[in-house]
Amino acid sequence: MATLSENSIEPEVFLSTFLLQKKTANSWRISTASDRISRLKSIREWIKEHQKDIQEVLLADFQKPPIETDLSEIYTVTSEINHAIKNLKTWMKPKSVSTPLPLLGTSGKIYYEPKGCALIIAPWNYPFNLAIGPLVSALAAGCTAIIKPSELTPNTSSLIEKMISELFDPSEVAVFQGESEVAQELLKLPFDHIFFTGSPAVGKIIMKAAAENLTSVTLELGGKSPVIIDQDANLKDAAEKLVFGKFINCGQTCVAPDYLLVHEESKEKLLMELKVALKNMYDPKFKGIDKSPDLARIINDRHFERLVSSLKEGIQKGAIIEFGGKYDAPSRYIEPTLVSSLSDDMVLMEEEIFGPILPIKTFSKLDEAISYINGKPKPLALYYFGSNTTNSARVIQETSSGNAMINDCVIHFLDLEMPFGGVNNSGIGKAHGHYGFLAFSNEKGVLKQRVGLNNATLLRPPYGAAAQKIVQSLIKWF
Ligand code: NAD
Repeated sequence: MATLSENSIEPEVFLSTFLLQKKTANSWRISTASDRISRLKSIREWIKEHQKDIQEVLLADFQKPPIETDLSEIYTVTSEINHAIKNLKTWMKPKSVSTPLPLLGTSGKIYYEPKGCALIIAPWNYPFNLAIGPLVSALAAGCTAIIKPSELTPNTSSLIEKMISELFDPSEVAVFQGESEVAQELLKLPFDHIFFTGSPAVGKIIMKAAAENLTSVTLELGGKSPVIIDQDANLKDAAEKLVFGKFINCGQTCVAPDYLLVHEESKEKLLMELKVALKNMYDPKFKGIDKSPDLARIINDRHFERLVSSLKEGIQKGAIIEFGGKYDAPSRYIEPTLVSSLSDDMVLMEEEIFGPILPIKTFSKLDEAISYINGKPKPLALYYFGSNTTNSARVIQETSSGNAMINDCVIHFLDLEMPFGGVNNSGIGKAHGHYGFLAFSNEKGVLKQRVGLNNATLLRPPYGAAAQKIVQSLIKWF
């Protein structure tokens, strides 16, 4: 099994594994749907047999509640596998396309060839899902893969390595654990595709490195995903959905609502509903939210300090804590916290929060909310709560985001029929289901011509009056 422990970077192991995988990738060009399906099934079986182990490593890494692991680490991967198994034959089938007039007599098809050897770099926040989900797409497309899991979730990353070593030869799929230096070394190799999930700042580093080899990239990044709560929104319904979407994984979710823009007349009622929902979900027996087994913890001390200091900075500049605000460094607990009276020079409004703090701003006209969002980098997701369909249509049309939801948040991640991803600062390229398959495939257009006389022959030199006439009529009519 190809593996590296921390601080022992051995670029030659990377290179030799990469070269072996390039060989395999060439032989996998002719892999059938059933070859690929059997690889996917082996992962599904392993996951089923090791459900408890997966729950345990995530609990150890950041006290992730087992049921959240089942939903957001296991189900997300097994549903991706099941979806791919069900659709793979259709996805792989060459697609016939129509023929333009000058090429009459030819036949065109799009073939979906595997790109080859892929590099998958995963983050810590959904460490199993975001390493193995892209692997499912890579294997479905017929690619080999090297995975670099996050160094911040050592227990999960070791389990990923164990799983891969039990199921695959390193010449097919390999895992290299370690710090960011491991990723930097791997990035020097001319992979056929890089699938990166992480922050926009590191996304830029990945794209620069990929440019050296002109490697295609999928960048699944983050950013501040806004929520608009319009005047006519059902506030109880919105509050319950927002509390779930914001505080699952303790707010450490790429598509978590980052801040709320609520109509000024609804603010007080919304705050009340958010508090009720928070109590109902995380403190139903009045023992204190810190006793809830359903709230994960902050991943490490650095992120804990970052969150607490951004809260303190906000308060110093006039922010008001409407709910929560307690924290405990030894257990890296931060109480779900609602904050109002925000200004744009606060870190809370400048940077992706990625934790259980929810800023709430107000607006008086929808245009204000739209232009506020449009004044910031394009988000990964945008959520609109309200029943006025003209307003929701305006928000969808007048803003740009990777994905959007109307009257809910976060759960669009589970819809494998939809492309998932960002736009510009929040990402490049799409993932999930067919879109994941396409990310790892080269869509190769193949045009078959007949032998001898054909339409194109008429367009050859010496250009006479007939050719002139044909070209002019093509311009005029087609
Ligand atoms: P990160 O960018 O710090 O790290 C992600 C991976 O990149 C890790 O494996 C890390 O080792 C590696 N890395 C870090 N620095 C590197 C460097 N200089 N060169 C090469 N590799 C490097 O991200 P994170 O903190 O693990 O995750 C949080 C971020 O990820 C948030 O911004 C979040 O929104 C985003 N995210 C996006 C999605 C999505 O699907 N769009 C999903 C989850 C998380």
